[in-house]
Amino acid sequence: MKIQYSDQKKVFNLHTEQIPYLSVDLLDRLGVPNLYSTRFRTFDAQRGEGEEGLRVVVMNHEDLAEAAPVVFENRDKLAHQLGSSIEHESITDQTHTNRVYVVTPEDLGPILRTEKPAHRRDIDGLVTDLPDVLLTAFGGDCPPVYIADPVRKTIGLVHAGWKGTLGKIPAEAIRRMSERFGSDPQDIYAAIGPGICVDCYEMGDEVYDQFSDQWGRSAADRIFRRYPSGKYHLDLREANRMTLLEAGVRADRIAVSNVCTMCNADIFYSYRAHRMQNEQTAMIVNRFGE
Ligand SMILES: [Zn+2]
Repeated sequence: MKIQYSDQKKVFNLHTEQIPYLSVDLLDRLGVPNLYSTRFRTFDAQRGEGEEGLRVVVMNHEDLAEAAPVVFENRDKLAHQLGSSIEHESITDQTHTNRVYVVTPEDLGPILRTEKPAHRRDIDGLVTDLPDVLLTAFGGDCPPVYIADPVRKTIGLVHAGWKGTLGKIPAEAIRRMSERFGSDPQDIYAAIGPGICVDCYEMGDEVYDQFSDQWGRSAADRIFRRYPSGKYHLDLREANRMTLLEAGVRADRIAVSNVCTMCNADIFYSYRAHRMQNEQTAMIVNRFGE
């Protein structure tokens, strides 16, 4: 699997034994099971090819009764590769908010984004202190941000598209972890997962204006660049890194993705490249060490 990395840092580990996935090296070293899937259902590393079409979400045009069992089966298989199962899974409906929800034991089990109960609608982040709970998010350009506190044994996972990033959703997750579980941001490790890179992420001027209004001009100027086309480009990775630092996470405990879903559109589903054919799964299990 020929992934293009934007720099030489070792951020992810690639696994191709079963359903292929990337894991965050920083979280692997804490013993926290985590993954980010690809387009592939199988991959033969020796032959350098595999079967594509790993479905993890149901799209609008799909027949629910037909697609749901396939989606659940794939997510369950991925979960098993982390020593978990879909019975321990919690997801959100991902409507591009900055709202974070504290998972309860009643929230676990297979569910589709479209069938969320009313009290769990319009949420883009989850946190939990429940052991072995699996948090899942989906993305096909919007990066996930994985959060883990090995002291309090709590985790979080957020979907950070530009709107969630604007609303500083990683900081919201950390704030909930501090309030509810007593997490100290200094103890927290965080990873910005695969997502669209600044070169691929052209934005309208109105998006710059919103960041400038809410974050201040100098912060906006650090994460937006004017390209020769005259258009702004947004650096989602740097924006979320800045939010994590501001929330009190130590710089040496933040892993920043060097994998772009659009530059690697042959390996990942990219919203901008393919228009919503499918998405990737990000997963993290609340477990530390072996
Ligand atoms: Zn790119």
